[in-house]
Amino acid sequence: MMQRRNPILFSDTVAMDVREVRVEGWERVLVAREGEYHCVVAVHSTALGTALGGTRLWRYDAESDALADALRLSRGMTYKNAMAGLAAGGGKSVILAPERIADREALFRTHGRCVEMLRGAYITAEDVGTSPADMDVVAKETRHVAGTSDGIGDPSPRTARGVFRAMQAAAAVRLGDAGLRGVRVALQGCGNVGAALATQLAEAGATLVVSDVDAAKAKHVAAGTGAQVVDPADIYDAEADVFAPCALGAILNAETVPRLRCAIVAGGANNQLREPADGARLAERGIVYVPDYVANAGGVIAGFGAMTGHPPAWGVARVDGIYDTVLEVLRRADESGILPHEAADMIAEARMAAAKAIPVS
Ligand code: NAD
Repeated sequence: MMQRRNPILFSDTVAMDVREVRVEGWERVLVAREGEYHCVVAVHSTALGTALGGTRLWRYDAESDALADALRLSRGMTYKNAMAGLAAGGGKSVILAPERIADREALFRTHGRCVEMLRGAYITAEDVGTSPADMDVVAKETRHVAGTSDGIGDPSPRTARGVFRAMQAAAAVRLGDAGLRGVRVALQGCGNVGAALATQLAEAGATLVVSDVDAAKAKHVAAGTGAQVVDPADIYDAEADVFAPCALGAILNAETVPRLRCAIVAGGANNQLREPADGARLAERGIVYVPDYVANAGGVIAGFGAMTGHPPAWGVARVDGIYDTVLEVLRRADESGILPHEAADMIAEARMAAAKAIPVS
């Protein structure tokens, strides 16, 4: 990794300290600081179009942790967008949250100026820890921002719809029926995505067992759906047809996979496999894994549609198209004797390679 320091002066004479970090495989990586603002912006790829990816605001022990997160997440966005068939690349911003934010408006205005430095190679939006209101502030400094409060609003219901469609496709393959009536789903995390997914599943006639570290959230979902609530530590052992991770990443690992009592894993959480070997662990147990970034692309699909001026019906159809994408991934995995997450990566990489191969006229 090579670094170059580059203080940028703005017209208001505020200097932002910007380091360009050269990382093999990434197009641009900036580390920017100004006052309490400390951020890593990673543009992984623009092979398929402008890099899209939200701004995460999170506490990190060290800049290196934030950098690692930004690299992992931006690469994930490239694959997610390619797999969703969007003419968009992948990027991500990670702001290292101070212990207490003294001036949130100033923080996000500075972020807007940082995004503006990339001159449209990267478009940001809200993510964990940020909101449409924060993006409104970013928009005061750059037009390269989506997810503002006049946009599609909270993307979670669309993400949940995509997960629901992914689950239907996996059920068609593994259980022989895409209808989810009577199917039992163990759902981890009753936040924005999990709660919306629970509602859709209950409406489809599925039965639910749910958990959340925030007991009030689990209780709220149970009240609306008739779900059984279990302790967060016990959700892996719940007898179910489908396990739906909708909380944190890395929850499919050497400790948890042997405990699962399900036929399918399909959920909204990002980076569900702790390591690639966990994909093999699932397959060894006969569990069909729907790769996370295939299942949870609904929000970015809808956001992309709104940003590019497509009517809402375009977004609805494309999110529902996750059903066919999952069928394609599972078919490719089966035909090639590889794991679903490997098949998904192959399809996404082929799309990027094909885009690179088109000569620019
Ligand atoms: P959220 O913060 O609203 O919900 C997460 C929930 O998980 C919270 O209620 C939290 O209390 C709970 N939780 C945390 N640790 C837990 C544990 N160990 N066991 C059970 N519950 C636990 O977040 P969200 O927007 O619903 O996103 C959920 C996941 O989906 C995240 O991984 C996110 O990155 C991913 N995702 C979200 C979207 C979206 O549109 N919101 C899009 C793509 C991916």
